[in-house]
Amino acid sequence: VPEVQAVGVAVTKESPTNASSSPAATAASGVLYDPAQVEARWQESWAREHVVAVPPREDPRQPAYVLAPSARPLRGARMGHLRGYVIADVCARFMRARGRAVLFPVGCESGGRPAVELERVRGQVERLGCSCAWGRSSTSSDLERFRWTQRLFLLMLEHDLVYRGEAHWSIRVAPQLRSIEHELDHLSGWSSTAVDSQRSVLGRVDGVEVDANTFDGAALTVFTDHADAIADAEFIAISPAHPDVDRWSSGSHLATVAGVAGLLPIVVSSLVDARYGPTAVLGIPKADPADRAIVQELPAPSGATWRASKSSAVPTPAVRYRAHDLPISHAGAFGAPIPLVRCTACGTVPVPREDLPVCVPDDLEIAGGEKSSLAARDDFVECACPRCGGPARREADRFDGRFDEMWTWLAFCVPSEHRSSKMLSDEAHRRWLPAEQVVFGAEEARRVFEQRVMAKVLQDLGELPELSSREPFAKALVYETVTAEGSLDPEALIEDTGADALRLVLLYAAAPERVLNWNDGALRYCRGFLDKLYAYAEPRLREWGPSGDRRARIETGARLRRRLANWCSVALTKTTGHLERLEMHRAADDVIRLLARIQDFEQRMLERRQGELEDEDREAIVAALLLLVQLLAPITPHIAEELWSVAGNATLLSDAPWPERQTRAPGLDAALANGGDA
Ligand SMILES: [Zn+2]
Repeated sequence: VPEVQAVGVAVTKESPTNASSSPAATAASGVLYDPAQVEARWQESWAREHVVAVPPREDPRQPAYVLAPSARPLRGARMGHLRGYVIADVCARFMRARGRAVLFPVGCESGGRPAVELERVRGQVERLGCSCAWGRSSTSSDLERFRWTQRLFLLMLEHDLVYRGEAHWSIRVAPQLRSIEHELDHLSGWSSTAVDSQRSVLGRVDGVEVDANTFDGAALTVFTDHADAIADAEFIAISPAHPDVDRWSSGSHLATVAGVAGLLPIVVSSLVDARYGPTAVLGIPKADPADRAIVQELPAPSGATWRASKSSAVPTPAVRYRAHDLPISHAGAFGAPIPLVRCTACGTVPVPREDLPVCVPDDLEIAGGEKSSLAARDDFVECACPRCGGPARREADRFDGRFDEMWTWLAFCVPSEHRSSKMLSDEAHRRWLPAEQVVFGAEEARRVFEQRVMAKVLQDLGELPELSSREPFAKALVYETVTAEGSLDPEALIEDTGADALRLVLLYAAAPERVLNWNDGALRYCRGFLDKLYAYAEPRLREWGPSGDRRARIETGARLRRRLANWCSVALTKTTGHLERLEMHRAADDVIRLLARIQDFEQRMLERRQGELEDEDREAIVAALLLLVQLLAPITPHIAEELWSVAGNATLLSDAPWPERQTRAPGLDAALANGGDA
């Protein structure tokens, strides 16, 4: 006698009076998947039920901050950008389902482009069903943000962490690079690609350095990563960002270096920075193709006869980093003004904190060009010195988007109603940092590097709580771009196939860390899968789904049902693991396969039972479908929510916990547990 068990979750309801065992009859009533309608319904519902709201401070669940790239108007590669939001949204939804309190903000950076372009990007992210809390983000024209950007700059100025270079204000980073490199070892939760991206921005170069004998007698240490080719050196090249560049930038200078027979001309070349950072290097055209470009620019030999005393300096091992100080200002037409005043009597004077923010004139043109330069506006530039009251002029440069992006993601931790008094050093940072997951595009590695640098600076300044590893991001995933022949229009594609189909193809067609080569066929396949899923699952869940008032009785003997239960168990384990490891393409594949298993089970049962399913078969199918819908929820949340609701669930799937072995599809667990008595 097969064991009969009462199980904890209702899974059936009364079948309609003339329901056939084969739901083909009901499916024939014309169940059509209409993504536009389904997606609008659930987006509205998620908003109404505050699914995306940031959990309040007293929420006892373990916090998880998921950080996606800021929304920004882009000329190309927009699909790649959207891919990042979808990946981050899967992380956020999966973490919520697993009982975490999630903060998932998305910043908005117009980069000086018209606001309508930014709104358009934001609209696309919303239309994709991304569960981000827009209320936590700020926009680049936000005056509150101006104030805090300016305040932070003045704080850094007080601590000599920013300086005015030839063309820009820059943040001093060079002295920190060695410790930043050591701290890469703390990034144990990062994917290796993500760590490599940071290593690459840091740009460590190993080589040797040696002191040159200069004609002027001034000290000059030169570096090369071609230690075995020093004898072939033909010149010395100095980066324009070298601290002593002024000494070498005019006139002609010569030096000798131990081991090199001839005289070496000294030149300033911008080709040095990108390869070695702000340093001086030996030019060895025979060993380095880039040096061949410089040697062609050299002036003809001057016929100098000077001979330095033979140097015996020995090259010693040395390291250079390509990363160096970060320029943060520009003379452009957007961004907060630098809050400084130049007074003939007092010199450079910071604008007092209580007078921040320094705003741009309301009627300044946003369109760009000379007219929108602050320098051209006397009514802006001319002011009274805050120190002596005499006539003074305001700094007319503005912060570029880079400075804002370095720190605003930290402000997203702070509820907007607290931001007028605090953006940093809020207790909110103790709650949300380090951020659980940062998701960034391969081309955004530099920005994440800079955000890490800023978090370290702010910890040193006491503006952020000390993080145990000094690193602000516990886990990181780099995603690659989407390439396509011709341009892709996300809005048209969503209109055409629905947001869920677009989400599915962005997740399924390639691993996040691989380039996704766009293919219309893949999108059609994904839409086809959702059509098939809907047509199959909707009538079954609607007619056989739980009524909520009857406990299922599952007979556990059938071999096929046990096999289905096993497939479900495998799918749950695999999908969970794949989502934990951010292998979303594999998770999508798990779910696609599970549907095929369920359909195969039904087919075999119909054959075995001469076309008539029994209650137990239907219960098993419903339980398996409900599991499938739950597994699909982070990936294609709208259709999953719809099918969940169709099955009679009164609460939102987006609020439901992730199925665990103990609580998932109970009929199937029972079948598994009793697998021995076939
Ligand atoms: Zn003054």
